[in-house]
Amino acid sequence: MLCGNKNVRDALSRMTEGKRLAQCLLFYGEKGLGKKTLALWFAQKLLCTDSGSKPCGICKNCRNIAAGVHPDVIWVQHTGKLQGFSAETVRNVCSEAIIAPNSGDKKIYIFSDCDNMDVRSQNILLKVIEEPPAFTHFIFTAGSRQTLLPTVISRLVPFGISQCTEQEASSVLIERGYSPENAAEAVSCFHGNIGMCIAYLEDENLQRLAALTKEAVRCIIDKREYDLMRAFFSAGSDRNSTLSILNMLECVFRDAMALKIDSSLHCTGCDYEGASALSARLSAAKGQHYHKCIGKAYAAISANVNVQLVLTALCAELMGGK
Ligand SMILES: [Zn+2]
Repeated sequence: MLCGNKNVRDALSRMTEGKRLAQCLLFYGEKGLGKKTLALWFAQKLLCTDSGSKPCGICKNCRNIAAGVHPDVIWVQHTGKLQGFSAETVRNVCSEAIIAPNSGDKKIYIFSDCDNMDVRSQNILLKVIEEPPAFTHFIFTAGSRQTLLPTVISRLVPFGISQCTEQEASSVLIERGYSPENAAEAVSCFHGNIGMCIAYLEDENLQRLAALTKEAVRCIIDKREYDLMRAFFSAGSDRNSTLSILNMLECVFRDAMALKIDSSLHCTGCDYEGASALSARLSAAKGQHYHKCIGKAYAAISANVNVQLVLTALCAELMGGK
């Protein structure tokens, strides 16, 4: 079931009904918002053979696309450690994109999670997205639109994907068989991000990381440096777990700063109570400084700097520091 982002779906529907159907689209937004689900929905919409409202979800094309076996809906394969797209892969797409579709009148290439697509591959891609054959469509998904080259972005019609409402998220979770209590717990952490709510309910490690993030917030509020270090290091040596905590912590600080301006504001992070306590204790300048420090630590760890070094420096900053 596709929910939320009605404005985007309406815009896409108008596009397919009118004469100006953009052939290169970008869906961007944080992880878990359903960008790939939306890409599939749009592919179904383009290839659905029903005469009524599209996608019908029942015709052969709709069913094959949903099952991932439609020959004209191609998920371009990721390659390499960073899960980008190799130059060879993109070159193959460019040469195949000009070949007529197998069964219908359109073919759709989906480049998902393009955040690690290197410059070389993007430049190769430029040729084909500048003037794609009339039957070829491209859908890109990414965490942010800044990850792609401006020359590439200028060829795409971008759509920012947002969360659905908490009520919608909760109904989807309950419909999927989760108990109302579990659904409520997940929604209190990840709000209208259904993908993250499901990840939370399915993945004990994510539950543990969310709990550690909340613990870290308490330690920052109470100025318990040793416990803060312990909370950070409990994430384990795995870089991704640390990144996940920093990401959640950054959200809590963003919420804290937003609550300072408007206390009725809707939180986006996993710890509403922590964010309100921080908002009451921190000055705007200090809060922004901390938020920036967390962002810098995240960037450093993403860039392969030693996790221990970064976290130790971050703890010192968050405990007052300079
Ligand atoms: Zn259909």
